[in-house]
Amino acid sequence: MYVIQHALGLESDDETPSADILAEIARFADLELRPLGRSADAEGCRFEGGAVTLPKGFKEAFREFAGDGWLGLSLPKEYGGLGLTNVLQAAVSEIINGAFIPLGMLAVTARAAAKTLLKHADPNLSADIVPRLCRGEWTSTIAMTEPAAGSDPNLMNTRASCISGRRYGLTGSKIFISFADHDLAERIVHLVLAKVTERDDAISLFLLSTRPGAADPASGIEVIGIEQKLGLHGSPTCAVALRNAEGILVGEVGEGLKCIFTMVNCMRLEVASEGVGVCHAATELARQYARDRIQGRGKGGQAVAIIEHPDVRRMISEMACLTEGVRALTLQAAAYMDVAERQSAPSHSAALLAFLLPICKFAASEFAVYTANLGIQVHGGSGYTRAYGAEQCLRDARILPIYEGTSGIQAIDLVMRKVRRSATGYHALVDELDRQLQRQPWCDECSRVQQQLSAGVAAFRSATDSILAHDDEGALAAATDYTMLASIVSIGWMWLRMASVVEADAPASNRKRVLANVYADRYLTACEHLAQRISFGARSTPDATLLM
Ligand SMILES: Cc1cc2nc3c(=O)[nH]c(=O)nc-3n(C[C@H](O)[C@H](O)[C@H](O)COP(=O)(O)OP(=O)(O)OC[C@H]3O[C@@H](n4cnc5c(N)ncnc54)[C@H](O)[C@@H]3O)c2cc1C
Repeated sequence: MYVIQHALGLESDDETPSADILAEIARFADLELRPLGRSADAEGCRFEGGAVTLPKGFKEAFREFAGDGWLGLSLPKEYGGLGLTNVLQAAVSEIINGAFIPLGMLAVTARAAAKTLLKHADPNLSADIVPRLCRGEWTSTIAMTEPAAGSDPNLMNTRASCISGRRYGLTGSKIFISFADHDLAERIVHLVLAKVTERDDAISLFLLSTRPGAADPASGIEVIGIEQKLGLHGSPTCAVALRNAEGILVGEVGEGLKCIFTMVNCMRLEVASEGVGVCHAATELARQYARDRIQGRGKGGQAVAIIEHPDVRRMISEMACLTEGVRALTLQAAAYMDVAERQSAPSHSAALLAFLLPICKFAASEFAVYTANLGIQVHGGSGYTRAYGAEQCLRDARILPIYEGTSGIQAIDLVMRKVRRSATGYHALVDELDRQLQRQPWCDECSRVQQQLSAGVAAFRSATDSILAHDDEGALAAATDYTMLASIVSIGWMWLRMASVVEADAPASNRKRVLANVYADRYLTACEHLAQRISFGARSTPDATLLM
């Protein structure tokens, strides 16, 4: 973080040094959240009498977390937040999510709702609600998904009918809504997307609110059940019925998707932090196990810890270089968000942020699943059991490439909107990559990474030409490979920067340079292969009739 903040000219807040903040949240995560993460996974949430009960200990941890001001870390001071940077928020989020993702989900939803209200709602409404969200007196949800409308919100059936002025009655069914009920706070505000009947079904955003625990039947908002899930057992995933539930219009009629975009940006960055958190947790568990587990023989014939075996070292070094690479990329995106938020006109940082957000969300999610899977492998049979927590990392990680827009949807956003429609962000990124590559490498190891990144960037350029040359079908078929290639190159850029800026005699320096080379050898070398696949377009994607 230090490196990225300085590279972008962001200054840390003198009154609240970042290192102290990170040390404090790490202490809270180690003492409170990590044990809660394990017990909440085993206990799960309960749904009885129309009300959700969260696992034991959640309420106490949430109260402590909210009481210490963490919910409003990056929200404006005048609304009860601490006014700190998105970079610091992303670093804090990683630590929370590495220990207990459900708390991170609750926190980001409050933050995203606050940012959306501050940007699009009546100022009086924001002034009333945002401080309560910062204090954790109220929590919030984002209610978009419906049985017939997941990735495509245009298919939603929830209807809003005008009562008077900005007051509307909403009727419909929402599913998979995180924390739509719980036993943590006084009130829950719901940001709900619905179609306005009087205005050609224009998708609009509404603010609804209710008391938790089925205590407010007159609100017209009823939680009708919670899902049994693979992971994230500490977070309730709710089905919600809206029966003429009264809501207030946020923004204007027909601007629902535009308003929700503020939230989506915040949530994509957070899911990236969740991914980094899982990568870190899985890597630490694997490293510790591999140091302790004696199995097999070393070169001298003696029994050794499995970390001595080349194949185990391969797995752990891959896990480490993916963790540190996606961490750097996520912090970099957060830094662009900080700069972009301070500028009113469209800027270089805003263009880079728009291009990097789907990449960050995609990369951190996909690599979290991959890393957690490697973590189980390092543990052998014990990884398949509940004994060490490696399997929980994989179960929890598996949602990351699905919610807040699946990996496929991130890829379509990148390819269709950010390359084919307008490539400003792509050109901004390639300029940054070129600038980095033009710098003189200061050590032999850096020069190898630089050469491999240079080849990766050439493959990225050629893949972009293919994406522009394909018809829509070809571009869509190649979108996921393209996003993976963009992810690998962007993380390669981070690794070259990290290897280049660490001082020669710094304790971490040798480790960083070695891991940069692991990344270059194992990942940047895949770029040419991906570019070739991207050039095939839809050639290797059979027609649906053949697959039915
Ligand atoms: C634990 C959990 C928590 C959640 N929390 C919330 C929440 O708080 N609020 C909320 O509103 N939602 C929430 N969701 C819903 C989540 O955001 C959706 O599940 C997700 O957006 C995908 O929608 P879907 O499940 O309907 O899948 P679908 O949209 O049916 O997609 C299925 C598959 O088809 C692919 N696909 C779909 N359309 C296209 C296309 N046009 N081109 C290419 N591929 C396509 C997808 O990539 C995916 O692989 C949550 C879900 C879960 C499981």
